Amino acid sequence: MSTATTQGTSVGAAAACAEPRVIRERGQREVFCGLTGIVWLHRKIQDAFFLVVGSRTCAHLVQSAAGVMIFAEPRFATAIIEDRDLAGLADANAELDRVVDRLLERRPDIRLLFLVGSCPSEVIKLDLSRAAQRLSARFAPQVRILNYSGSGIETTFTQGEDACLAALVPAMPAAPALLPRSLLVVGCLADVVEDQFRRQFAALGVDAVDFLPPRRSGALPAVGPGTSFLLAQPFLAETARALEERGATRLPAPFPIGVEGTTGWLRAAADAWGVDAARFAAVTAPGIERARRALARPREQLEGKRIFFFPDSQLEVPLARFLAREIGMVPVEVGSPYLHRAHLAAELALLGPDVQLSEGQDVERQLDRCRAARPDMVVCGLGLANPLEAEGMTTKWSIELVFTPIQGYDQAADLAELFARPLVRRTRLVA
Ligand code: SF4
Repeated sequence: MSTATTQGTSVGAAAACAEPRVIRERGQREVFCGLTGIVWLHRKIQDAFFLVVGSRTCAHLVQSAAGVMIFAEPRFATAIIEDRDLAGLADANAELDRVVDRLLERRPDIRLLFLVGSCPSEVIKLDLSRAAQRLSARFAPQVRILNYSGSGIETTFTQGEDACLAALVPAMPAAPALLPRSLLVVGCLADVVEDQFRRQFAALGVDAVDFLPPRRSGALPAVGPGTSFLLAQPFLAETARALEERGATRLPAPFPIGVEGTTGWLRAAADAWGVDAARFAAVTAPGIERARRALARPREQLEGKRIFFFPDSQLEVPLARFLAREIGMVPVEVGSPYLHRAHLAAELALLGPDVQLSEGQDVERQLDRCRAARPDMVVCGLGLANPLEAEGMTTKWSIELVFTPIQGYDQAADLAELFARPLVRRTRLVA
């Protein structure tokens, strides 16, 4: 878990009058680091291996977050680099090379190896991008070796996915100039969700659709000026920037959470491809209808309940928008580690100017505000959940929302149920 201790709070007047007021904070944070992303990234890219270069703490974090795989060969490990001074760096590089040699000899199924940096000072001194180049020269083309940082010095745990995907972008082939335009969906999605979206895009007539990351590393999609991309996750600032540098264009859209978000997200692609309104309605109507019917039950349980978000996953704004507009919950405060104004523009417009946002964290001040507000539910990191539960509050772990398939029409009710369940459980405990 990472903490930062710069103090300070400011309440910013909104730049645009329709934008909500934002409390900006820089104080102690309670968030997991980017290594956590390995948990879902290694499941998605099925021939990739994540070698954390870190300390025993990093090894414990990854092992306990990802669990022990009993039946399968694991696809993550930690090379422990500790207690080195600068004079020991040559040894550390040689040791890293030996670890990679042994790993790739034993595991010929690995096609993509990520060297994942961490925050201990011994590791920061190591130049992992140079190590990746050095090792790539030896193992290419059988194995591609890339590096990124999962360090806890960054904003929060979802930045690990952003750093990983941004590291993949330079390895994507260049799209031939004469190729028709293509759509790239960016961000880890569960396979079941990816398949649903693929079918919906095909029904809309948007045929050339790729996903980043791909399920196999050899299927890295091409990118170029003919690529339009849709972000599937709100925490991919670096990846988006890297794609734009390759000539790709982002399609502004809300995120595909809930009926409204999914429809807006699909519509952004449909509009860019000139799909007519009747076809769009015909393709989306069954999903919208199914989702609305399924949302009726959780809505009954959640409507009118007040919800408070601590900044953790960067999913907070789209989640609050969904819960407020489709379920009738009342967001008391919506905290996010970082608000990317451009990527969240559609979300903030839907959320409206009356919702209190906070950006960054000063955990003690936010705890004070949360206790004063006494919300019906608190969405927060694991480290805050138990103490708040002990104070009688109902909590939801934000990290669970990153692990679970929540995007698209057919997952909207499952997402709402994730919020309903802890409230129902507490009601039963109290009764
Ligand atoms: S990267 Fe840093 S914050 Fe993350 S587990 Fe390792 S030491 Fe802890």
